[in-house]
Amino acid sequence: MAETLHRLSLLESIVGAVNLGAIVLDDHRSIVLWNRWLERHSGWKADTVLGRDFFEVFPELQHKRIESAITQALRDNFQSLLSQSLHKAPFPLYQQSAMASESRERMQQAVAVTPISLAGARRHCLIQISDVTIAVGREKLLREQTMVLRSQTFSDGLTGVANRRHFDVAIDKEMRRARRSGIPLSLLMIDIDHFKDYNDQYGHQQGDTCLKQVAGALAAMLNRSGDVLARYGGEEFAAILPDTELAKALGLAEAIRKSVRTLSIDNGHEDGAPRHITVSIGVATHSGAAPLDMDQLIGAADRALYQAKDGGRNRVVSNVSPPAAPA
Ligand code: GH3
Ligand code: MG
Ligand code: MG
Repeated sequence: MAETLHRLSLLESIVGAVNLGAIVLDDHRSIVLWNRWLERHSGWKADTVLGRDFFEVFPELQHKRIESAITQALRDNFQSLLSQSLHKAPFPLYQQSAMASESRERMQQAVAVTPISLAGARRHCLIQISDVTIAVGREKLLREQTMVLRSQTFSDGLTGVANRRHFDVAIDKEMRRARRSGIPLSLLMIDIDHFKDYNDQYGHQQGDTCLKQVAGALAAMLNRSGDVLARYGGEEFAAILPDTELAKALGLAEAIRKSVRTLSIDNGHEDGAPRHITVSIGVATHSGAAPLDMDQLIGAADRALYQAKDGGRNRVVSNVSPPAAPA
């Protein structure tokens, strides 16, 4: 007898000391146990809730998932874990003290409802509530940091457009898609003309500002959802244009060339006349009629760009066929 009493008081101390909320309901859903953790976080002493109907104490939980969880435990001997994403804070519990007030934010809760079978008595159920506020906060922070890291990994720090790594992944993906579907794919290589002169004259910092302005003008012209504008290197950009045939790509390239010239950024003089920042653009297209692999497409756009430079800059040149293989 003394031993049984000792074990009972030991159990009571444990239930009081555990770092989670424990509510026990009898088969009529009356509260028969309410531990100290709950007193602390709800502000309600055990003697104000013991013997009362669970849903009289928590009317807002009626017809919620927890009601069917309690029914399943008592009637079907079935355990439930309430999904955190659906029920972030079902109970009016607060992280600190008994001074609970509705204006404060509830703690984030994980809730489990477990049937308890007692020899010689009707089935009871145990509702366990744990505070997952910190874990949820940490998860949110991690998710946000991951998003930031991901965007940094794939975008160029100066101009904000896609970086070279993103370009490499995107061109590979689009090339595969184009080859599979037979839909044409165009590529523009865009290089700022006489940019070394600009840096020499205005300094590197102003050069950076100019790069951002040009990137902004390019991005504004490439606003279809599948288009990818990337900083390919230094003062060279590349635009991947899915589902775009050569004529359309040439039209877009010409519009881009004009829009950069229209920025009217001074870049010294040439033959006594004022010169402005302009771009040269090489265009290449893969199509069912003229299939290219990825290296050939980039090579063709590169050669076209070189021809545009050679032809006097501030111009658009398209697909040049690959040089004949040496005999
Ligand atoms: P071209 O018309 O033939 O393209 O002549 P260019 O002067 O533009 O070509 P070149 O390749 O000789 O010079 C490119 C210049 O771009 C040199 C380099 O200092 C500058 N540059 C590359 N990256 C950056 C950058 O991030 N910021 C700044 N300010 N300048 C850069
Ligand atoms: Mg250049
Ligand atoms: Mg260059």
